[in-house]
Amino acid sequence: MFLTQKFPRIHSHFFASPKPHKFFLITSALLSNSKSPIPLPPPPPLSHFSTLTPTPTPAPPPPQEQESLQLSLESLFLPPETDVSSLKEAPLSARILKGSNIVLSKFAGHGVDVLNAEFVKSSVTTEDCPADGKPEFALVGRSNVGKSSLLNSLVRRKRLALTSKKPGKTQCINHFRINDSWYLVDLPGYGFAAAPHEVRTDWAKFTKDYFLNRPTLVSVFLLIDASIPAKKIDLEYASWLGQNEIPMTLVFTKCDKRKKKKNGGKRAEENVHVFQELIRDFFKSTPPWIMTSSVTNQGRDEILLHMSQLRNYWLKH
Ligand code: GDP
Repeated sequence: MFLTQKFPRIHSHFFASPKPHKFFLITSALLSNSKSPIPLPPPPPLSHFSTLTPTPTPAPPPPQEQESLQLSLESLFLPPETDVSSLKEAPLSARILKGSNIVLSKFAGHGVDVLNAEFVKSSVTTEDCPADGKPEFALVGRSNVGKSSLLNSLVRRKRLALTSKKPGKTQCINHFRINDSWYLVDLPGYGFAAAPHEVRTDWAKFTKDYFLNRPTLVSVFLLIDASIPAKKIDLEYASWLGQNEIPMTLVFTKCDKRKKKKNGGKRAEENVHVFQELIRDFFKSTPPWIMTSSVTNQGRDEILLHMSQLRNYWLKH
């Protein structure tokens, strides 16, 4: 049986968007720097920002739509207290993190760099986890999704996540302390086909208890393999997180991989788009999502920026 007590968290993607039906225009000038009828805006201040549409589209739009593409604010993740109307700041399109739907807020920036990372402990229950009150982000996903690779890429250490793969630790909650001020948490992979059914069910119970009863959990980062079509178990996981209002960011992994016929013949962008369509109804508003690759480090700096804004907001509230 799970406890259902709720703790204060960032539930921003479960709120309705502040201006649900507002659209903003991305003109052809923002999409292409050739033959532009109006002057181009200044380049974005950081390479992490995208000036392109944040929503991957499976097919190129018809020519007339390329002139002015309308993006619904509903398809973006707006962190709490994000002012989208302020003209003093950079245009909204320049504040979207590359390969994501995430808009940067005033909370982003402080403490982005990983200066040190250390393994702290493996816990077998939520109660055993570190009790120092520091904010944490939990990485979870199907076995083989690329969780260890992403963790290593985030901390720029080749083997840190090996700690969680040692015998006896694969079924634990593994805490890694970053910059002595926050945690990355490696949770057991799910959906391992070779595990007996009872063990798989126990893993589910175990991680669900952690999600529901960990007051310092700022957000779950649910990893989804973008090189293959959506799996039922991933959709179930996303649905459960949505229904239980656990703050979540979707991290699409292996975005460098080329499409293969045996994997459905779709590009990573297409799989990302389909996955979002499939989970749309589980959430009151669009959850944040980001495309990554541990081979090219795509999305690495962007995830750290996103974590910094979630963390800094959480610390102030
Ligand atoms: P885990 O079981 O979720 O911890 O997954 P691992 O990090 O051990 O990765 C599983 C496999 O996927 C390994 O063979 C990795 O080399 C490969 N892999 C992980 N991330 C990526 C990625 O971003 N791109 C590609 N092409 N392969 C990856």
